[in-house]
This record gives sequence, structure tokens and C-alpha cells, in this order.
Amino acid sequence: MQDKDYDYLIVGSGLFGAVFAHEAKKKGKRCLVIDKRSHAGGNVYCEKVEDINVHKYGAHIFHTNDKEIWDYVNSFVEFNRYTNSPVAVYKDELYNLPFNMNTFYQLWKVKTPKEAQLKIQSQIEELNITSPANLEEQAILLVGTDIYYKLIKGYTEKQWGRDAKDLPAFIIKRLPVRFTYDNNYFNDKYQGIPIGGYNKLVEGLLDGIEVRLDIDYFQNKEALDALADKIVFTGKIDQFFDYRFGKLEYRSLRFENEVHDVENYQGNAVVNYTEREVPYTRVIEHKHFEFGNQPKTVVTKEYSQEWNDNNEPYYPINDAKNTAMFKNYQDLAASEENVIFGGRLAEYRYYDMHQIIGSALKKVRDHFQE
Ligand code: FAD
Ligand code: UDP
Repeated sequence: MQDKDYDYLIVGSGLFGAVFAHEAKKKGKRCLVIDKRSHAGGNVYCEKVEDINVHKYGAHIFHTNDKEIWDYVNSFVEFNRYTNSPVAVYKDELYNLPFNMNTFYQLWKVKTPKEAQLKIQSQIEELNITSPANLEEQAILLVGTDIYYKLIKGYTEKQWGRDAKDLPAFIIKRLPVRFTYDNNYFNDKYQGIPIGGYNKLVEGLLDGIEVRLDIDYFQNKEALDALADKIVFTGKIDQFFDYRFGKLEYRSLRFENEVHDVENYQGNAVVNYTEREVPYTRVIEHKHFEFGNQPKTVVTKEYSQEWNDNNEPYYPINDAKNTAMFKNYQDLAASEENVIFGGRLAEYRYYDMHQIIGSALKKVRDHFQE
């Protein structure tokens, strides 16, 4: 006899929760997914405006090196051939990103990899950085001072609201540095945007699974816990434990959408504004993710801001203080036998979509002991 209505209560319908639910259902488990938002999909959710898929919680480009994950997502929706190649604007000058031979030519008129390497070398040799202790040192070591001051420092300090010396080095290692003429922002083998938008991916994952929206787990915890044998929790780990060790910090974002009565506003999906004085970090023109030819266009200016209880927690601040606090929560989580913690908020990690999917698939395998 089954005494509870569900085997799993899944808190959060983002990619982690949706993948877990999909896989558990395949194994015959009864799942209930809840979300406090009024839609499923978490941060990959898109909203149609002027017939254009607008990435409501920030631009999302799928990329992975892992064929299993690529095949997995493509089994729900076909992906297009979009390749992310952002353009950086610094004081009215344009540069290609990521840092590559095109950028080096635009900056210094150097044409060969050797010349570019010598130029960077000449900018870092007197600084004597061996093991970079923070983002600033790491960035200078990778690309020299010119690029650091024009394309990294201002953007990074706007984005994180902190001095680049107080940020972890790993953040900047997300960006490739290449000595070839290649503007692809990612090194991964597979890249694209779901044809028809990310909602198709989420709908495919959640097909046949009960989803209840506008429900905050913490406002109904007792009643919800009583519904299922196990909980999969993808919300904020510190909130789960009543902020016992304090509040983990995040960076939040504010999005300003504009509809323009032109077919093509900026000629690219992503344009970064790297100088400190421009208040937003980037401008997204959503139609270019899907090669849209709608008569109008929607652009979003992205402003970075401090997180508080009234806005969304987007980026975990993985500095020493927060990392130590998270470790305390992680130890508590390990003793919660009936709760599986996963996703960007519960793991307090700057995970990309493919990493979230990979981690959800692994959690499922470990959990079902495959
Ligand atoms: P989320 O998508 O955050 O889902 C968590 C869900 O849980 C939310 O729907 C939330 O409402 C719900 N929830 C939380 N607490 C509760 C509660 N108490 N009760 C009920 N529901 C709750 N990745 C890439 O690969 N490429 C990109 O280009 C990229 N761009 C990004 C841009 C931005 C601005 C951001 C913030 C992230 C980006 N990412 C990108 C990362 C990507 O968004 C994440 O990897 C992925 O969406 C995380 O999925 P998740 O399920 O862990 O979390
Ligand atoms: N970054 C930068 N200049 C840019 C773009 C990115 O200095 O024009 C730095 C910045 O610190 C940022 C990090 O590189 O936080 C990672 O960039 P990414 O584009 O991966 O950020 P995300 O899309 O996750 O916000």
C-alpha cells in the first residue's frame, strides 16, 4: 500500500527539477512539481513579445562538450545553429569577444599570433604574477593590462558590484582567449538555441507530470511535505535551513525591455558595454537568437544590482565568506535523508544549463543506484 500521494515532491520547475522529474517518471515514480512563479522553467523561461521569444530572466545560450547531454536536450526539441559572438563597446569603439585575434587586431593592429603574444607578454612581465589570487590578477595574466582595463575591469565591477581584486579568479576563466580569428564565445563542440524557444524543452521534460504553480514551498511546507516520500529541493539552501548560519549573498539583475519599430536594432544578439560609466552591462536583441525576421524587435538592457529579499537571486557570490557559510549548510544538507538538494540555488554554484542537466542526471543515477 502506498500511503502518500507522491513518491517525489520537486520544489522548483527549473532545469534541475524538470530533468529530475522526467527521469523519475520514466522509472515509474509519481512526481509533483511545484514552483512559486506563475510559470514553469525557472530562469530559462521565455515570454512572447511581438512574436519574439524574450529570455525573461537573461539571455541563455546552450553549449556543451558532452554528446550525451546534447543528444538528451535534442530529444525534446531541435536546436538551431546559433553561435554566440558578442560585440563589446568601450567608449564608442567596437571589439570582438571573446578575446581573440580579431580583438588583438582591433586594439593593437597586430596581425599574427606571435605579435599578439609578445604584446600581452610585454604588459604582464613587470607585474610578476605567478599564481593569480583574484580576478584582476588572473585577467591580467591571461590578456594583459590593455584588455583588462578596456574590456574586463569596468564590466566585471558593474556585474559583481565588487572590486575585481575581491572576486575569485575562476569567473574570468569562463571566457576563452584564443590566438586564432574566431569570435565564437564558447569552445564547446555543441551550441544552439531550441527552435521555438526554451519553453519547448521544459514542456518536453515535464510532459505528463503534474505541475502546480504559484506555490511557495515555505508557505505550505508541512502540508506539502506530507504529500510525498521524498523531496527534491532546488530553492535556496540557506532558506531551507531558516538562515541558521546567515544569508548567502547573490547578485541580482534588473531587465528593461524596449520594443523598437525596426526590424534590426543592433545587428547582434549580445552587445556588452564594458565601461563603468554606462549603467547597464549588456543589451540583448532577442530575435537574433532564432534568426527572426519579425517586423519589430525587442531589446533588453541588463542592469546588475545587489540582491535583497525583493528581487531574484541570480549569481551566487562565491567569495571566501560565502563559500565558508555554504559549507556549513552543505553539512546540514548531508544529514537530511529524505531531501535531495540540487540546482544553482541549492548548490550555490555558478552552473550553466548543461552542467545543471549533467548534475541532475548524475543525481538521478546515484539516487536510483544505477
Ligand atoms: P532555476 O532556473 O533558478 O530554477 C529554480 C526554480 O525554483 C525557479 O523556478 C524558482 O521559482 C523555484 N523556486 C525557488 N524557491 C522556491 C520555493 N521556495 N518554492 C517554490 N519554488 C521555488 N546557462 C547557460 O548554459 N548559458 C547561458 O547563456 C546562461 N545565461 C544565464 C544568464 C543569466 C542572467 C543567469 C542568471 C543564468 C544563466 N545561465 C546560463 C544559467 C542557467 O540559468 C542555469 O544553469 C539554470 O537555469 C539553472 O537551473 P536550476 O533548475 O538550477 O534553477
Ligand atoms: N566579462 C568581462 N567582460 C565582458 C564579458 C564578461 O569582463 O565583456 C567577465 C565578467 O567578470 C563576467 C565573466 O567575464 O562576470 C563571465 O562572463 P559571462 O559572459 O560568462 O557571464 P554570464 O553570461 O554568466 O553573465
